[in-house]
Amino acid sequence: MVERARPPAPAVSVLAAGGLDPSGGAGILADLRSLEAAGVVPLAVATALTLQSGRGVAAVRPVAADFLARQVEDLVAAFGCRWIKVGQVPTARAAAVLARLVDDHGLALVLDPVLAASGGGRLVGPAGERALVARLLPRARVVTVNLAEAARLARCRVGDTAGMEKAARRLLDAGAGSVIVKGGHLAGPPIDLLCEPGGRMTRLAGRRIAGPRGALHGTGCAYASALTAALALGETLPAAARDAAAHVRALISGALLLPGARVLRAPRL
Ligand code: PLP
Repeated sequence: MVERARPPAPAVSVLAAGGLDPSGGAGILADLRSLEAAGVVPLAVATALTLQSGRGVAAVRPVAADFLARQVEDLVAAFGCRWIKVGQVPTARAAAVLARLVDDHGLALVLDPVLAASGGGRLVGPAGERALVARLLPRARVVTVNLAEAARLARCRVGDTAGMEKAARRLLDAGAGSVIVKGGHLAGPPIDLLCEPGGRMTRLAGRRIAGPRGALHGTGCAYASALTAALALGETLPAAARDAAAHVRALISGALLLPGARVLRAPRL
């Protein structure tokens, strides 16, 4: 008897737009791994090339904004993706182009407003940062920020859960649909704060787990990608946030120590 392949399930694709970190720890290479692990078809466009090999960003070269737009349009037309996850937005031009693409194609946006690399080095210039806040934040279905990003974007101190709530409310007031302030860098137990439309706050208690010593980079990219994939697959925001946190815990416990760098890599099959 001829064995028939099962008809393929309709594929859900998610597009990641962000920087290319050639060491693979963060940026769109990390996004691709996390999107794939979360069960969606991963697509990626580079907003910038970066010079880095695990110890901070030494230089950034933005990709021409019109070429960025052509790549996104080509992928959206071919794959019909409805969700985009945006990380590094290097210039005001890139922010404007991405905002237009979100509007033109009705894309659901998850914004991970990375400003500086965890290992040091700016990823976004001052004009890019202003444009990110003015153009992309108000279009975002969800904004994911760590404590430092929350403090900078909301212009307040964020060292505890009260500060996280204050920052989340300010980002909601600035136009974000929902906000997740990630508490991985809190002094005490890690608690993520989910702030939904209308200001409803949910605290999501996490677990600290042992990873390799020293700073890892790419956890924010992995979190936002896993979150976007779960949302694209139809999960609620609280469920997607829990899945994304579990994904990052699994990555940290399986992280590889490469010469000179601590890199998040998917565990071997
Ligand atoms: N995007 C790029 C291209 C980066 O190089 C980095 C950090 O090095 C990030 C994003 C942010 O990484 P993290 O997930 O550690 O916040």
